[in-house]
Amino acid sequence: MKVRRPFVKGALSGELELQARWFAGEFGRDFCGTEGERVRIVQFGIWNRTAGPDFVEAAVSIDGAEPKRGAIEIDPDVKDWERHGHSQNTDYEGVVLHVFEHRGGDRVFSRTKMHRLIVQVQLSPVENRGLADGALARAGRCAPLLAAQSLEQIRLTLSEAALFRFQRKATALHRTGDAHGENEALYQALAMGMGYPNNQLPFRLLAQRLPLRRLSQDPDGAEALLYGVSGFLPAPDLSVLPLEARVHVRGLWQRWWPHRVAYQSLQVPQSVWRLGGQRPANHPARRVGALSVLVRHWRALRRLVGAKDWKRLAKILCGMTHAFWSHHYTFGSPASPRPIALIGRERLEELLANSLLPFAGDWEKLSTLRTRDHNRRSRIAATRLLALRPDAKKLLSEAVCQQGLLQLYEDFCCCDASDCAHCPFPEQTAAARTIPVV
Ligand code: SF4
Repeated sequence: MKVRRPFVKGALSGELELQARWFAGEFGRDFCGTEGERVRIVQFGIWNRTAGPDFVEAAVSIDGAEPKRGAIEIDPDVKDWERHGHSQNTDYEGVVLHVFEHRGGDRVFSRTKMHRLIVQVQLSPVENRGLADGALARAGRCAPLLAAQSLEQIRLTLSEAALFRFQRKATALHRTGDAHGENEALYQALAMGMGYPNNQLPFRLLAQRLPLRRLSQDPDGAEALLYGVSGFLPAPDLSVLPLEARVHVRGLWQRWWPHRVAYQSLQVPQSVWRLGGQRPANHPARRVGALSVLVRHWRALRRLVGAKDWKRLAKILCGMTHAFWSHHYTFGSPASPRPIALIGRERLEELLANSLLPFAGDWEKLSTLRTRDHNRRSRIAATRLLALRPDAKKLLSEAVCQQGLLQLYEDFCCCDASDCAHCPFPEQTAAARTIPVV
């Protein structure tokens, strides 16, 4: 006899279950919107397990128009949109469809912070059939073709895409170097690496507003300036903080105070920081502390990058400590009994692949780099393109293959709104056996 799970309306498990059933396609893909629109889900998208809408990179066609890429939010009740504060959250600006199961007698609209009305779909009550599988994405149309390639072929395919990505990053870094000097270019790239994956923009703004040459003039005050301009310095009422944090923050305030009027207009807007959905050790406030330590070690780091001495550079980066942040996740958290790395192995690999090696033009090093950081985006890319290969995990652990996968995912999957149907990649692969990079 089939055992059925109870569907608890409005409870978290109910919401998750609804999302799982949606993602499994259990409700179909054609719906009638609450205003009578013809709604077709062209692409179900990626299940977002971090802060923000439930499904991203979906594609929805309304009344037969060109599919629109965007996010889909799914709630048990239409009022959850307001209850959960989505209408005030800029993360939800890209939502193209709000799906819900229940609504009362009142007409309730879903709108974004910019007052854009979102098309709504109410699901018909259906029998609960249990959870669908929890994969983040589905295998794409190209997966069987890529599965048929030999290990040598697939490595070649991915490394061609990775080389294109590497050269593009190197060119971008050198352009910034032309405009602002090589040191500033590298510093900006490393700052962006601190913000990976969700806060690259605010970290870039921070590095542009507080260039390395400014911070180098006052190494002891650099951390306070970074915190002041980032907007992460806790409010002057320090009594709410634990003693250790109070002492640390008081010191930062004393150094920031004389500069605050001059730098006020440069402060990074709080709205661009994305604070949810990340591990505590990766909180951007903590990463600002790590950036300040990096600035303190700049001369040694820069010398080692110039010499391509990656071994010693890794030792310095992973060995960096901070009086407060080596033992705290946030300003308000109690001290951790064990030291917490400022830059761990995963971050180091990320900085090497995206900033340091392209800056130094060291493609050979990238070719031999192994990576443990199977970040969410590369796991999604692997699920879409390599799902049918038994060696997908092994390929993903090679930095070159990971970079190549990301390039293909961005060039093809992120531009596709046809659920693979019109994506040219499978045909190009079949025709060329090696993949042309767009
Ligand atoms: S969109 Fe193209 S590249 Fe992406 S999974 Fe589908 S067929 Fe493959």
